[in-house]
Formats: sequence, structure tokens, C-alpha cells
Amino acid sequence: MLYPASFGSDPLFPKSTDFEVVYKDEMTGHGVICYRAFKRGEIIARMCGQVITDIRQHTLQISPDKHLYDTYFSGFFLHSCSPNISLDMEKMTVTALKNIKANTYLYMDYAETEDHLFKQFPCSCGAKNCRGWVGGKYDMIPDTAEAQEPMANVA
Ligand SMILES: [Zn+2]
Repeated sequence: MLYPASFGSDPLFPKSTDFEVVYKDEMTGHGVICYRAFKRGEIIARMCGQVITDIRQHTLQISPDKHLYDTYFSGFFLHSCSPNISLDMEKMTVTALKNIKANTYLYMDYAETEDHLFKQFPCSCGAKNCRGWVGGKYDMIPDTAEAQEPMANVA
């Protein structure tokens, strides 16, 4: 189990034989890797943690004033604009959106759960539909087009 015994037992809690929080690289920091394959549509795990009222680095939004603080598992999901998992914050379940092979990092779309992000950052997920910026549902994407507009040339 990735979770401490104090969280209780649930057959869907992530097993340490199936998942691990690993340091990926300097740019992305930690991520969650899965060591077994999952089929599209399969519930891969149930999340658990402390429910708090503020947004922190590793929280996931349950409702605008409730956030899950899980520093054992779900708090370390990486972001992709083309995610391979989807989170149901009511049922606390993680579902595979694609067939996931063993030894694959789990990627969610942070905008799926978050209204606002603790810290927004430029996205380099490499997906075809990459938004170029990781923010919450209601975070503004900075207007880079305007910043790159050449100075008006008044002759
Ligand atoms: Zn992206």
C-alpha cells in the first residue's frame, strides 16, 4: 500500500507493487508511474488523503472550498493536455482514459479538477492539442501573441 495504515483499507487503494511516486527529472520533479497495464475505462485506484480548505502544491480540488491533500499518490500526478487518466473527485476514483502500458507515467489534466492552480506554468507535454500553458479551469492563459507583436512602426 502506498497509503499509511491509518487511512484504513480499501481494495482499490494503490498498491506499492502497482504504483510508485518517482523522481522523473529536474524539469517535472516527481511523478506517479504504474508498473502494470490498465485497460481504457478501468478504475485504476481510489484516492485518499487529508481534506483541507486551502490550495497547496499537491492538492486536488474536490469543491471550491475543499481540497484533497494526498502526498502519497494522487498529489504527484503529472499534467498532460492529452491525459491518460481522469479523476472523479466525488467518488475519489482514478479511471484510465486510454489503454495504459506497464511502466508508464500517469498524466491527468490539471484543468479537469482545478478552478485555479497553486502555481501556473508553461506546458511542454508535447501533445498535439497542447494548450501551451498549465492553469486551472478559470485561470487566464497569458496573451503571448500580444507580447510578441512588433512595435508599431510610425513613419
Ligand atoms: Zn500541454
